[in-house]
Amino acid sequence: MHDSEIVNVYCARNLIEAEFLKNILADAGIESRVIGDAAVILAGMLQNDEGVPCLWVRRSDESRARGILTDFEQRRNGPHSDNDPPATWKCSACGELVDDEFDLCWNCQNPRSAY
Ligand SMILES: [Zn+2]
Repeated sequence: MHDSEIVNVYCARNLIEAEFLKNILADAGIESRVIGDAAVILAGMLQNDEGVPCLWVRRSDESRARGILTDFEQRRNGPHSDNDPPATWKCSACGELVDDEFDLCWNCQNPRSAY
């Protein structure tokens, strides 16, 4: 792949998402490249857009790749993804976060409050 032949189709939130999407595209037979400063991203030092990992594909694959990525975004933004309540509750006595499966606070044995 030469740089002149590839186009940017998506900028991921982080490297993990970028690699995940790269695998999805690979499953569809689309070769892609993640371009971004991986070392900076992994170190958690990134605070701006400069090192955001972006996915690049061949121009001939662009429309297909965009379709796949749009599907991914729609699923991610669907009602059952990020909007689900967290599977924890907060102890009203000590403020610890307790896993949803427990009815007593692991820290102070205070029962789960009914709210
Ligand atoms: Zn507690």
